[in-house]
Amino acid sequence: MNVQPDLDFIRSLKEAGGDTLKKCYQCATCSVICPLSKDGKPFPRKEMIWAQWGMRDKLVTDPDVFLCHHCGDCTTHCPRGAKPGDVLSSIRAYAYTFYGWPKPLAKLASSAKGLPILIGLPVVVIFIMWLLSGAMRFPTSEEFSQYGYQRFFGTWDFYWYAKNIFFIVLIMVPSLGLALFSSFKGISTMWKTMSEDAGLNKEYRPSVGQFLKDYLWPSLIEIVKHSRFRECTTNTDRVQGHLPLMLAFIGLAIVTTWSLLKNDVLGLIWPSLHGPMAITDPFKILANISAIALLFGVGVLWANRKKAEAEMNTQATFYDWFLIWEITAVGVTGVAAQLLRWAEMPVTGYIVYFLHLVSVMMLFLYLPYTKFAHLMYRTSAYAFEKYRQSVYATNS
Ligand code: SF4
Ligand code: SF4
Repeated sequence: MNVQPDLDFIRSLKEAGGDTLKKCYQCATCSVICPLSKDGKPFPRKEMIWAQWGMRDKLVTDPDVFLCHHCGDCTTHCPRGAKPGDVLSSIRAYAYTFYGWPKPLAKLASSAKGLPILIGLPVVVIFIMWLLSGAMRFPTSEEFSQYGYQRFFGTWDFYWYAKNIFFIVLIMVPSLGLALFSSFKGISTMWKTMSEDAGLNKEYRPSVGQFLKDYLWPSLIEIVKHSRFRECTTNTDRVQGHLPLMLAFIGLAIVTTWSLLKNDVLGLIWPSLHGPMAITDPFKILANISAIALLFGVGVLWANRKKAEAEMNTQATFYDWFLIWEITAVGVTGVAAQLLRWAEMPVTGYIVYFLHLVSVMMLFLYLPYTKFAHLMYRTSAYAFEKYRQSVYATNS
């Protein structure tokens, strides 16, 4: 076999935390130790040699790369200190940029060099929206205690649709729309190339409903339950941070969906539904519990990451820390904005609320290119794993 190593790819892996990949001498201890690796095609040994050879196309279409949960069991037991867990993590970081669209944005979100633009872009967009809205002033104490942040983008006489909601939708919906489109595009390409690589049958396919029921839904249940995550033994405390964080995002997604429905659909028929939720509103309670779970979860992940860097000599990477910073920023600014409202501090409250909008926009907009993307790519890899073992993949 004539292997043409992709040297840029190897360099990217080294920069993203996989700098130890050359140390591997293929003893296979890691594949034996890995609690998630299956007998037929064990990982991560084969990925280590492919990474050494710079076989980019082979690795970005390898579902096993996405099935790894970066527990570190293999890294702990590797006799050469090749840190296979970190190498697989760096391959995933590369894959999110590889599949990301638009490419310049994906590239920008892959390294700390892009940070000024990554932060500057939402700051400018939201500031321009604030100027365009004509609000452009801080509220008085009376206005702040009555409306909170409901008039951040001002108010108008149109009874059926609040101006604030209009501007927030104008900022967040295109950001989320771009992220979802980019994720869909990336996952479709990944699935197609994985199927071709695995030589799966193209003619005999399940219906969409059957695919959702037999492959996607069981994968989602496994993810929510963290079943595979719990099989890892070295870093069991990672589940303690990851699980509350995931439940917090589910809680916040429910609240956001209800808020959109209430304001953008039902509010058009019953305008009295506009306005802040009462503190005793079940959705407000869910939002506050989710915010606490988010801060707790990210705190655990932060501590675990620091511990791993110290104890396992894991390299601090932009890929790992950017998501932790982003989530921390969303949680801290969200809670601080609410506390400042209760403390009746309008100027500081508005500045913190502005920063909250910036951090939320960053989380949405960069979702397909940062570590957050594992949410979609790992779920797809779970579904692909089930699919490739099914009658549809093998029947001809
Ligand atoms: S990564 Fe380490 S444990 Fe795995 S095959 Fe290479 S040397 Fe062996
Ligand atoms: S980090 Fe954990 S899940 Fe990933 S390959 Fe190593 S042992 Fe397996």
